[in-house]
Amino acid sequence: MVQATNLGYPRIGAKRELKRALEQFWAGKLDEQGLREQAAALRREHWQLQQRLGLDQIPANDFSLYDHVLDMALVVGAVPRRYRRAGDNGALALDLSTYFAMARGVEAGPAGEAVPPMEMTKWFDTNYHYIVPEFEEDLSFRLTSTKPLDEFNEARSLGIHTRPVLLGPVSFLLLGKTHREDLSPLGLLEQLLPVYEELLQRLAAAGADWVQLDEPCLVLDLEPAALPAIEQSYIRLSQAAPSLRLLLATYFGDLGPALSTVLHLPVAAVHLDLVRAPQQLERALAEAPSSLMLSLGIVDGRNVWRTDFEQALALIERAVERLGSERILLAPSCSLLHVPVDLELESELDAELKQWLAFANQKLQEIVLLTRAANEGRQAIAHELERNRQAVERRRTSPRIHNEEIDQRVRQVRTQHARRQSPYAVRRQRQRAQLQLPLLPTTTIGSFPQTDEVRAARAAFKNGRLDAAGYEAFIRGEIERTIRFQEEIGLDVLVHGEFERSDMVEYFAEQLDGFLFTRNGWVQSYGSRCVRPPVIYGDVQRRGPMTVRWSAFAQSLTTRPVKGMLTGPVTMMQWSFVRDDQPRAETCYQLALALHDEVQDLEAAGIRVIQIDEPALREGLPLRRSEWASYLDWAVDCFRLVSASVRDETQIHTHMCYAEFGDIIEAIAAMDADVLSIEASRSRLELLNAFVRYRYPNEIGPGVYDVHSPHVPSVSEYEQRLLRILEVLPAEQVWVNPDCGLKTRRWEEVRPALTNLVQAVRAVRTRL
Ligand code: GLN
Ligand code: ZN
Repeated sequence: MVQATNLGYPRIGAKRELKRALEQFWAGKLDEQGLREQAAALRREHWQLQQRLGLDQIPANDFSLYDHVLDMALVVGAVPRRYRRAGDNGALALDLSTYFAMARGVEAGPAGEAVPPMEMTKWFDTNYHYIVPEFEEDLSFRLTSTKPLDEFNEARSLGIHTRPVLLGPVSFLLLGKTHREDLSPLGLLEQLLPVYEELLQRLAAAGADWVQLDEPCLVLDLEPAALPAIEQSYIRLSQAAPSLRLLLATYFGDLGPALSTVLHLPVAAVHLDLVRAPQQLERALAEAPSSLMLSLGIVDGRNVWRTDFEQALALIERAVERLGSERILLAPSCSLLHVPVDLELESELDAELKQWLAFANQKLQEIVLLTRAANEGRQAIAHELERNRQAVERRRTSPRIHNEEIDQRVRQVRTQHARRQSPYAVRRQRQRAQLQLPLLPTTTIGSFPQTDEVRAARAAFKNGRLDAAGYEAFIRGEIERTIRFQEEIGLDVLVHGEFERSDMVEYFAEQLDGFLFTRNGWVQSYGSRCVRPPVIYGDVQRRGPMTVRWSAFAQSLTTRPVKGMLTGPVTMMQWSFVRDDQPRAETCYQLALALHDEVQDLEAAGIRVIQIDEPALREGLPLRRSEWASYLDWAVDCFRLVSASVRDETQIHTHMCYAEFGDIIEAIAAMDADVLSIEASRSRLELLNAFVRYRYPNEIGPGVYDVHSPHVPSVSEYEQRLLRILEVLPAEQVWVNPDCGLKTRRWEEVRPALTNLVQAVRAVRTRL
């Protein structure tokens, strides 16, 4: 029999119960016991739900109070020294406070001093962030936490037999870092494996029959030692607990050259992501030894669309025909961590659009139905199959999705490759004459503090308690105050403050055709932080100007230039759920066209400086290097489509929230923004060398104020930072600005921080 399975269920709860519980616990309003009870209640609910839905294999240990990579670090005892308790002679006191100290840092650590959190970074190409394991020199791995075992037992006591999920040893190491950059974490494999062996043995002894080991790193370009490490690991692990059946799970892409090796490992089953990489199936069917089972990832775990049953069944039936139903498991393409929990909660969603969607619960229902079809024949789900066919067909042919005019415009611009009228050197002179800015011009990244008052006003306007006129007056008041403040302290290029925006993507999405919004479509970003991405379902089109009235109002208040502020097309796309019925590039061009029109309107309204934020440009990079060039090609072209049609005198800025540009510097230069602001105050300043080496010609604003920290830099701190920047970049090329927007800071911090910034720049200018 084909079996219905799941690789992982979302942890946060359909109504973000985990987020609430965590925040209460951190605020001291819920004790540890209370937190643990709420977490257990969520796990129970999730297991029971999956059981009711009819899954044959239900995951355990997919739950986490913060992050599953951090959990694994604790399981194997990879706790950096700075979080270990003093006085326990190296024996680990592993309690929740150690766990959360690693995740979030502490004001007063074991030695009384503040300890920053561990580094966090993106989980592959998702918007989930994991805690980067640290392998210190004197680390000796040992089984330190029995969480996987405890959760298996917890499910069993509820009468539910689960399949524990572990992050596999090779991916766990590759996702972490050693104390020396030239030392691959894979060198630690020998020391790590015994802990996995012990854990598997204990799971077997507790009654587990299947264990899922996730090795998502297999879809990356691997270092040469990685595949041998995989082989070594799985040979050892399969011997360690011979009664256990190991499922090796890969996801997010094609295994490429690793596929053959993986298929010949001594494991019971291999999971393949057939949504991202359906082409793997034929090779796998041809090469899989007769003892191997395949887990087919046929339901998209990364996106919110209803599965096309016809398409999925074609793959499933092909696999069953070749291997027989005993050797097939059906599953989502990856863990359902990356999709919202339950579409049923979206009672306000347009009924037709709702038909096209599936969230985690619906995706599991789909898997169960597809399993029935595989086992009992298509007629067993004839009714569901027909409904699915109709929904898929209606979506495919809906006039709400397709707009011939937009398609035509995109086709046309894609052949044009937009460019500014004149080269940068010419624009630079014209902009100087026009804007009359001093050396080392100062500016900010756009947002000013989003105070409770601002949030309350936006909410009141949204639910009708504040009328349009009242809201307009409120926002204008905030803008005016902010303009006056910037003038007073002497910033050179001003901003209106973005008070009207709840979020830099949502604000624009709400004013574009082709987007839909959910009420409860939350997905975990990291820890307790959740995001609710909009969904791009159809051709994107601007209904009218989106930002012009605020920018024009702000400009009317001052003679200094006010920067217009837009979110770029790549970022709009990356931070939304995207269509799966056309390539990402196509969607990006549509967004670019809408933003292009906005840029035109801003310019026509007298805005002389326009910033197009692209903080997500880098995270859009494909997982495999071989695909970078084509992505960067269209991503950069989209940016230029937005920005290039302005006059030479109009200055285009872009902003990115990171500083690693070494490997994409050419693409950054090709964007040809007149000014690029980046994060730099936290990162090592050496990162600027990429620009120096490349002889990056346009202007750069390396952030000198870390907006993620409550620390207010003094005038002399700023001066030092500036002088260090001026050691590597000529003053004519440098702007001075914070790392990012100020929306999460308080005015009490922003006022002195920006005042000091301007003072420092003035002091440095006199010395040049
Ligand atoms: N303009 C945005 C702001 O200032 C940019 C935010 C970002 O880069 N993430 O908030
Ligand atoms: Zn930023």
